[in-house]
Amino acid sequence: MVERRVSYLRLSVTDRCNLRCRYCMGPDGVPPRRHEDILTYEEILQVAAAAVPMGIDRFRVTGGEPLVRRGVVGLVERLVALEGVREVTMTSNGLLLPDLAVPLRAAGLSRVNLSLDSLRADVYRTLTRGGSLAAALAGLAAALKTGMSPVKLNVVLLKGMNDGEVEDFAALAATYALLVRFIELMPLGESHSWAGVRQVPEPVVLARLARRGRLTPMAGIPGNGPAAYYRWTPRRPVAGPELPGVSPAGDGTATLGLISALSRPFCHTCNRLRLTAEGKLHGCLAKEDGVDLREPLRGGAGPEELGKLVAMAIAHKPLVHDMDGGCGALRHMSRLGG
Ligand code: SAM
Ligand code: SF4
Repeated sequence: MVERRVSYLRLSVTDRCNLRCRYCMGPDGVPPRRHEDILTYEEILQVAAAAVPMGIDRFRVTGGEPLVRRGVVGLVERLVALEGVREVTMTSNGLLLPDLAVPLRAAGLSRVNLSLDSLRADVYRTLTRGGSLAAALAGLAAALKTGMSPVKLNVVLLKGMNDGEVEDFAALAATYALLVRFIELMPLGESHSWAGVRQVPEPVVLARLARRGRLTPMAGIPGNGPAAYYRWTPRRPVAGPELPGVSPAGDGTATLGLISALSRPFCHTCNRLRLTAEGKLHGCLAKEDGVDLREPLRGGAGPEELGKLVAMAIAHKPLVHDMDGGCGALRHMSRLGG
């Protein structure tokens, strides 16, 4: 265990979702939960306010799919207004952004990370169990049109499913002003038993990209967290799919990130905590049990007591994960706030 500078808290506002990505959820989604088991927005804001004096000044709203919880724009607005908060961002599958991107921007959301695992309609549909690529691209277009920058795309690569699209995503990043990050599949929850078969290791992705262009390591991407970034300059000009209403503002080269928890563990640089929708504060996706905040919150704990619990979670952050050690079967990203 180690004490370290932890400055970033992910807030899962729901573990429900309007998609069923095969590596994240089963076909029936998450087990239904009682309304009262989930933290209210008021309670989430109490935790956030207590975390600021502990050094946490950046918040990411996530889930499940955060946009399916009613009133999430108001939560963003109130998080932004908390004293000492530097940045509020969101991770989403983007499906509801055509209606919500402008209100979120107006509420003060700084940036959005969107999950999009395929640019082929049939593969997207299969991977998400029924999702519409056109709807996901409309969400991406809506985010780009608000001017939130940089928009980051998360792409979980799966061998034999979308790993042939690495260059297509690089072309998308070269065409528009966005970053693409290739994420190595983690053996958590739904994918615990089969992730090993589908994983695409980081060296394989880099080799693919190097065949089609020049890769130059980069430093200094804002909020770069665990990703290793590269500038990719294609040998021949490339073009991404058309996004209606979005001007192709890219300069023909792509900024690409790789997040590879297994090929290149980054635990020593990890600066984040995660609060589940049920009020458990976790220091690691793959390790110890969370610190329960719901009972203290409902028992009347004030900011000082909550702050102490946040400090406890920080102090218990492990130095290395144990994803290879079989610990992840019960740990779903949709619950932990990926
Ligand atoms: N629904 C939102 C979305 O998909 O962006 C937010 C929650 S989702 C759990 C957050 C991120 O976790 C997504 O980028 C998703 O692809 C990623 N994720 C889920 N399960 C994963 C796994 N087993 N390995 C790697 N990434 C995973
Ligand atoms: Fe939903 Fe995100 Fe999980 Fe896909 S990865 S099922 S969009 S929570």
